[in-house]
Amino acid sequence: MAKIFCVANQKGGVGKTTTTVNLAAGLAKIGQRVLMVDLDPQGNATMGSGVDKRTLPLSVYDVLLESASIREAAVFSDKCGYHVLGANRDLAGAEVELVEVERREKRLKQALAEVGADFDFVLIDCPPSLSMLTLNGLCSAHGVIVPMQCEYFALEGLTDLVNTIKQVHANLNRDLQIIGLLRVMFDPRITLQQQVSDQLKAHFGDKVFDTVIPRNVRLAEAPSYGLPGVVFDPSARGSQAFQAFASEMVQRIQKM
Ligand code: ADP
Ligand code: MG
Repeated sequence: MAKIFCVANQKGGVGKTTTTVNLAAGLAKIGQRVLMVDLDPQGNATMGSGVDKRTLPLSVYDVLLESASIREAAVFSDKCGYHVLGANRDLAGAEVELVEVERREKRLKQALAEVGADFDFVLIDCPPSLSMLTLNGLCSAHGVIVPMQCEYFALEGLTDLVNTIKQVHANLNRDLQIIGLLRVMFDPRITLQQQVSDQLKAHFGDKVFDTVIPRNVRLAEAPSYGLPGVVFDPSARGSQAFQAFASEMVQRIQKM
């Protein structure tokens, strides 16, 4: 059965989408069957996986509103080697449309239950908020991957997310745990980043992934070609780090 992970952090621009698509591509390259779910109405993870959000016949919106199954709505990205349940601006309306329905935070979980045997990994790219969409992600998942930059306010920002995860764990999803904190856009020349990284290790111990993702311009260029860095330029330092992260994740789930 698939292991399901949310990539979440309520801050924008911290590297959630970059992490989701590169981990998906890295896992696909080592033979894992991957479904990437885009839960952000901006649709960046969809576009960054070579799928045009503007021409999607069906999206995660239709799945949340139960007008399509995941088998119907997901598409295979040939270039990237994984399945994509895409998102576009329609999804912004789902928040409001779901207000009236029962068990609205479990819609994605129910839909994923039907395809659990088809995949090894499901990766969910969450929007930068703790909204009903993110809640659907958290209710579906076995674990949360938290990308973070090693900046001064990083730890402070983490408190809200950790509290939300605790509440979801207590009330909605007993499986949910933080799998790990992933240090991204890391620049070892910056002393402060090194200090924050050490603090994270001291605070969270083995909840901090061994792999560190460096700041690397090839990762930032790749989305404009509609590709994850791992596919666009596999030899780039950032891509190799994500490939190493994919291997680390495969090892982690064997211990789960
Ligand atoms: P989020 O999904 O959290 O909003 P993104 O993944 O979209 O964050 O990343 C924000 C910006 O930072 C994007 O322009 C992305 O290309 C860039 N970026 C992300 N990770 C890296 C990295 N390791 N090195 C360089 N640029 C990065
Ligand atoms: Mg994003």
